[in-house]
Amino acid sequence: MKNDKKYYCDVLVIGSGIAGLSAAITAAEQGFDVILVNKEASLEESNTRYAQGGIVSRGHDDSPQLLIDDIMEAGDGISNLEAVTILASEGPSLVEDVLVKKSGVPFSRSETGEFEYAREASHSRRRILHYMDMTGKAVEEALLEKAKETDRIRLFKNSTAIDLLTIPHHSTNPLSLYREPQCIGAYVLNNEEEKIEMIFSLYTVLAAGGLGRIYLHTTNPPCATGDGFAMAHRAGTRLINMEYIQFHPTSLFHKDADGFLISEATRGEGARLTTKDHTPFMDSYSPHGDLAPRDEVSRAIYEEMIKRGDAYVYLDLASYTTIDIKKRFPAIYEKCHSVGIDILTEPIPVVPSAHYSCGGVQADTWGRTSLKNLYAVGEVSATGIHGANRLASTSLLEGLVWGVRAARDIADHFDGERPYKESEIPPWQPPEKEEEVDPALIQQDWLSITSTMWNYVGIIRTVKRLERGTADLRYLKHRIDDFYRKAHLSPMVLNLRSGIQTALIVAEAAFSNRNSKGTHYII
Ligand SMILES: Cc1cc2nc3c(=O)[nH]c(=O)nc-3n(C[C@H](O)[C@H](O)[C@H](O)COP(=O)(O)OP(=O)(O)OC[C@H]3O[C@@H](n4cnc5c(N)ncnc54)[C@H](O)[C@@H]3O)c2cc1C
Repeated sequence: MKNDKKYYCDVLVIGSGIAGLSAAITAAEQGFDVILVNKEASLEESNTRYAQGGIVSRGHDDSPQLLIDDIMEAGDGISNLEAVTILASEGPSLVEDVLVKKSGVPFSRSETGEFEYAREASHSRRRILHYMDMTGKAVEEALLEKAKETDRIRLFKNSTAIDLLTIPHHSTNPLSLYREPQCIGAYVLNNEEEKIEMIFSLYTVLAAGGLGRIYLHTTNPPCATGDGFAMAHRAGTRLINMEYIQFHPTSLFHKDADGFLISEATRGEGARLTTKDHTPFMDSYSPHGDLAPRDEVSRAIYEEMIKRGDAYVYLDLASYTTIDIKKRFPAIYEKCHSVGIDILTEPIPVVPSAHYSCGGVQADTWGRTSLKNLYAVGEVSATGIHGANRLASTSLLEGLVWGVRAARDIADHFDGERPYKESEIPPWQPPEKEEEVDPALIQQDWLSITSTMWNYVGIIRTVKRLERGTADLRYLKHRIDDFYRKAHLSPMVLNLRSGIQTALIVAEAAFSNRNSKGTHYII
């Protein structure tokens, strides 16, 4: 695998979801040359693209304090108040400025032209802006369009970041040991040309999204293999709160649905969860009933399923909502219809699925991580906003706010110096003899990872399950590392390496925390 290309930029952004695009656009506005990479063949591909419910803004009878209170309550006492306050006070004006005015996101409006605010679980007010039930698609398309129009941004699709370039680790200069460790770019696989390239940057913004794909059932698309967490971990960056994995209570239960999410906004509009015999059950689990926080709803569903031996429960819009279902939830209607379920007349079979990582690469209020010149924004980061459990529709907002803040912080501290000679950083060293990869082995390894995570590091955890899970994952990691060192590198191999490393990080964090809190429920 030859490696001949080198690129240079002021700011390298890894990931083109809402966080990466917001950072890239803002950095370019500040006059920086930006390279943004996405490992997928389409730049749109991201978790952002699939967000349905919407993005938190400020409703009519709303205030920053009310939002702060709701986020703190959902976070189960361990959210970072400083970060939450920034989100609540700066978020709505950035939605207006960056998404509405600069990028033209067509959020849904009422007949009088006013924004239509939706409500979701655990929100005390209607404050969520949405574009029907396709908010993420609308946001992603608008931001990407804006980035494409911007001369200073080079967009590289089909480019998989392999490792962060850091000194002293990647330097051949022994004296670099005396410098503060720092990030100077990344090794990136050009998927199409099968070459490993070097991107040198003064600042790197990690915006590589989530990790849902390490679980058997997930709402996340295939790109969410936890690469960002694994890359940061290998570079010695601090990760926190990794045991807090949010399970979305309601994904469509159907063999052809691949974890398709049924938005919480359906319950905000009155839909109810029932057992298979059509009995609502949430009132007996929480005073908030069907609008209880996600972790409580997921556990309640899981318990009902176990108690009754059922493979799913129902989410019933037809019997309980008074809205125009087809107009308000067209994508959900279409998807269910495509697999033979008419949500206007019948309930939807649903199960909980891994959805969101509340923890991640520890980032301060400007997105700075423990590694110099590396920022982390969006789902891969942990600003502490989500604490032990995320309040619905706050993650798109966090990606937007921290993407912008990271770029502004870079502008405030920019000195343009490269603290190394380029000749000291060698190109990627491939193994002497590369082995061809057998896809069947990769598939089997993924099956082992995802079922171990689902059964042992899932919605309800026990010390015994976690002990077994971490031991199995450690063994598997050992084997995959060995395989990786000899393999002909491809996206498939890189995803697997990230998946096992991130799975083990989550399992070990869960094993070492014996206190149930938020999404981490251990008995
Ligand atoms: C089905 C679904 C519905 C959701 N609904 C909502 C909602 O209504 N409201 C809300 O606030 N949140 C919602 N969320 C969560 C929210 O969408 C995500 O948390 C958010 O979009 C994350 O944004 P991000 O920019 O951090 O990451 P992403 O949007 O996931 O972007 C990450 C990017 O990094 C790229 N990448 C990953 N690894 C590499 C690598 N090694 N090299 C190069 N590129 C890489 C990916 O391809 C992708 O482009 C939902 C999530 C899902 C899955």
